[in-house]
Amino acid sequence: MALVNLKQILLETRTKKYAVPSVGADNHVLFEAVLRQAEEENKPVILMIPGFLVKDMDPRFFEYARLRIIQSPVPVCLHLDHAASYEECMNGIKYGFSSVMIDGSSLPFKENVALTKRVVEAARPCGISVEAEIGHVAGGEGNDNDGNEVDVNAFTDPAEAKEFVELTHVDALAIAFGTVHGVYKGVPELKLELLDKIRALVDIPIVMHGGSGLSDEDFQNAVAHGISKINFCTGLFLSTTEAARAAIEEHNNKMQLPAVLGVINQAARKEIAHLFEVYNTQPVALADIAHK
Ligand SMILES: [Zn+2]
Repeated sequence: MALVNLKQILLETRTKKYAVPSVGADNHVLFEAVLRQAEEENKPVILMIPGFLVKDMDPRFFEYARLRIIQSPVPVCLHLDHAASYEECMNGIKYGFSSVMIDGSSLPFKENVALTKRVVEAARPCGISVEAEIGHVAGGEGNDNDGNEVDVNAFTDPAEAKEFVELTHVDALAIAFGTVHGVYKGVPELKLELLDKIRALVDIPIVMHGGSGLSDEDFQNAVAHGISKINFCTGLFLSTTEAARAAIEEHNNKMQLPAVLGVINQAARKEIAHLFEVYNTQPVALADIAHK
């Protein structure tokens, strides 16, 4: 069975110095495109759906997602991204996600700890991994076309990150060190020395949110300095939309939906292939991680 949790899929990232892409796939077209590219290249991948969308989705989509992943030859984590509450996390577990992110990053430290602990206590006995966030990555989730500015005041404090991990026992930690959600406003500047400090104090995989708008070099630096998981949504949504728009124009606005979806599929696969290359994503043997 290829469905694994976050702890398992990120197990070898730090020793082998690579990251696993975590890609927004809340619909069949993107879900299949991402998974097929991973299968073609024999690479692990994380497919994620944001918490706020889950309540309005047909639960049968999650059944399809689970079944599709279970039959896949590559390790895949089905991750609930940015759940805002304990209840949203429990909903994700009910629907079969193998991993959840509880985002208490806008709460005071103690409340974030308490909420995260509660989710870990419920999820761990089910084999579900938990990601949390300390510090706050600016910008709303989803498609933000106008751009977001970085919030320097909300960068992760290394000592707080250490204490947070010790208190909550989370499996992965999202930190703020210079990225934003959605489209980047201005030129991105990653604080790699801050990442180094956090990496030195925290012994679990570190997650970067807000990858859209960064250069290949930014990604390579982030991976070299110890990032294990990189969330990538807006960039994929924008590039696939642009590919569809360009194709429709090329055909003098005479293109039908199945052909447009084909263009989107190809554009998404190309983007994922690029992410695998830039993140240095390495094949993972299921047998090596399945029982960890
Ligand atoms: Zn995020």
